[in-house]
Amino acid sequence: MAVRMCPQCGKTVPATRVMALSDGFECPHCLTRLEVANGSRMIATVAGLAVAWLVWRVTRDSTNILGFALPVLLSFLAFGIVSPLVLMFVASLRTAPPPLVFEPVAAHGGHAQSVHDHAGGHH
Ligand SMILES: [Zn+2]
Repeated sequence: MAVRMCPQCGKTVPATRVMALSDGFECPHCLTRLEVANGSRMIATVAGLAVAWLVWRVTRDSTNILGFALPVLLSFLAFGIVSPLVLMFVASLRTAPPPLVFEPVAAHGGHAQSVHDHAGGHH
């Protein structure tokens, strides 16, 4: 399956959209509502976690003064960077169910001006 391809119009969706709004966004070409398929989101999360673990493993043994906090911070950053990057490369898109639209109830009230004001007596 093509990466980041809109299933509706077949054009590629910019990676920035996929990364920033992976929970749902509109195709810039045909305005179809899309979302990242669960499969690719899983891959991105797993890859992010794997790299985070790796970073934690590597930095854990450092004798730095920040040795306590740094591995956690770095692995957190690694996850935050790697996960969207992976998503950018593996994301396959599908059309999202249309969002719920609440029809506003039409207000009928603007045409109630009284005609009696102009019915003045001629006495
Ligand atoms: Zn499209």
